[in-house]
Formats: sequence, C-alpha cells, structure tokens
Amino acid sequence: MKLYDAVVIGGGPAGMTAALYLLRAGVKTAMVEKLSPGGQVLMTSEIENYPGFPKGLQGWELADKFAAHLEEYPLERINDEVRAMEPNGDGHVLKVGEEDVKAKAVVLATGCRYRKLNVPGEDRLLGRGVSYCALCDGNFFRGRDVAVIGGGNSALEEALYLARICGKVHLIHRREAFRGQIIYQQKCFDHENIDIIRSTVVDEIVGETDVESLTLRNVASGESSSLKVDAAFIFVGFEPIIDFVPETVNRDRNGIVTDVEMRTNIPGLFAAGDIRSKLCRQVASAVGDGATAANSAFAYLEQLG
Ligand code: NAP
Repeated sequence: MKLYDAVVIGGGPAGMTAALYLLRAGVKTAMVEKLSPGGQVLMTSEIENYPGFPKGLQGWELADKFAAHLEEYPLERINDEVRAMEPNGDGHVLKVGEEDVKAKAVVLATGCRYRKLNVPGEDRLLGRGVSYCALCDGNFFRGRDVAVIGGGNSALEEALYLARICGKVHLIHRREAFRGQIIYQQKCFDHENIDIIRSTVVDEIVGETDVESLTLRNVASGESSSLKVDAAFIFVGFEPIIDFVPETVNRDRNGIVTDVEMRTNIPGLFAAGDIRSKLCRQVASAVGDGATAANSAFAYLEQLG
C-alpha cells in the first residue's frame, strides 16, 4: 500500500491550491484526479472575476497556469478515481482504482457535478442537442437558435458565450428575478441576440433524433407553448460529488460541513472548494479554501509528530 502524509482528492482550483501549499510546506503529497487538472474551470468559457486578470481569461488558460505552478514541486499524481475511503489507524485508506492508498491527512476537493432538469427528453437527447457545457458543444450550433435554462451565474455567463456564436439565445428562467450577478444580468438584458423568457419552466425537450423544440409553461398563467430550438443548454445548479465519502462525515444538502479552518468532524479529514456546504462558489473562494485546508492539514500532521 502506498503511504503519503497527505492526499488531496480532486484537481480543481481548491485541490491544486491545497497541494501547492502542502508541497511548499515540505509535506509528502499526492493528488488524485481522474481527468485533467482544472475541474469545472475547464468547462468555463471565460473567467472575468479572478483577481490579477483584468481582461479576463479562458477557463483552460487559468487551469493551465495553476497546473504549471504545481510542476515546480514534487507532487505525485494519481490519475484515477477514489471509489471509497475509511479511517484506518492514524489515517485514512482510500480505494483508488484497484489500489489502496493510505494518507495521514486527506483534503476532499472533488467539487460538484451538474444538476439535471429531470424532464422528458433530457436523457434521450443528451449529446443530440441537450448539453451541460456551452464551451464543449456550443460550436455545433453555430448560427442556430438555442435555449439556455437557468437563472444563476452559470446560465447568464454561458448565455453570453453562446450569444457570440449562435443565432438567437432564449434564456429561460423559472422566476422573474435572476439569481446571478447584476453585471451578468445587465449584459444579458442588453444583448440583442438574447431573448429573456421569465417565469417559465421547461416541461419537455422534444425531438425525434435531435432536439427540435421545448414545451414551455408559464408558471403564472399555466399556459403552455412550444419554442423551436436546436439545442437546450441546461444550467440549473450543481451538486457536490460526495458518493465516496463515508456517511460518518457530516454533510447537509449543500455539501460537506466544515468549520472555518476547513476541518470536517473527522480528525485528519479536511474539505475545500465546491464540495463544501457554502453559498459562494467561485474560483477565488475555492483557492482560499484550498490554502486554508492545507494549512490545517499541516498543523494536524505537526501535532501527530
Ligand atoms: P445556481 O446559482 O444554484 O443557480 C441555479 C439556477 O437554476 C437558479 O436560477 C435556479 O432557479 C435554477 N433552477 C434550479 N433548479 C431548477 C429547475 N428544476 N428548473 C428550472 N430552473 C431551476 O447554480 P449555477 O449558476 O450553476 O452556479 C453554481 C455556483 O457557482 C453559484 O455559487 C455561482 O455563483 C457560482 N458561479 C459563479 C460564476 C462567476 O462568478 N463567474 C460563474 C458560474 C458559477 P432559482 O433562482 O429560482 O432558484
């Protein structure tokens, strides 16, 4: 069994920052990441609110910069998935692929996965017009009319991205007021390619082999209508990836519960970034969480001796 002082699970901004701080403190650290480092940042078209980049930058560019910084340190990378974990003596044993890996301290930083709308047609037409990633699939709908569903920052930002390449972008939100930042709201309201449809839900995504239309329902009047689109980009929130985390680790409906030092209720187990139960899910706050979790993990390891 491989032994480490610290294992960071997840290679998004929180995980990469935690690994960076642990390595700089001289801690023998491994990072488990099943895909390329970057996490959700890789699926984000443009990041405008990460300090230090006044003109904004592409998600993949920021992920690359984080990864390049880590290259300076002796990080052990494990490209696989943690399937389970359990406390063991003075640490935790992680089932990583077919292997067992032991760590004295663990930082959970697996982030979130997209939430589904759960309407008829959504699963059947996935990859045939239904998408959860504008950056990945937007180009297939160049010049064509599409819908974006949701009212948070993801929906607003990705509607703005799609409006640059698609025909009309119908932004459909279930309430009158949007949840996303005012600056993105205003940009969407002002954009000539974006058509705002408020107080409306999607009851069905319709299409034989590809998305052809959406069945909409106005929640105030109850009236149904059909909207012809070639794609439905769904951004109705995210849920934390905690399937592998034992039930003994405190959580609520928003994620893993920690104190302000990123400590969970289990000694030696820390959480950082979007996996945590919190309201502010930003790259900047993920980076802060990662640094704090590493600091706490370092203090914990020191006290173990
Ligand atoms: P979010 O903030 O949770 O917003 C989800 C949106 O989807 C809400 O408007 C919600 O409506 C709507 N919704 C949820 N379930 C629905 C359903 N079944 N049918 C129709 N609409 C539904 O999620 P997000 O936009 O993905 O953002 C996640 C987190 O990442 C947030 O903390 C966000 O601030 C952050 N984020 C930040 C940035 C940035 O700062 N640049 C970019 C992207 C994401 P209600 O409003 O009615 O609840």
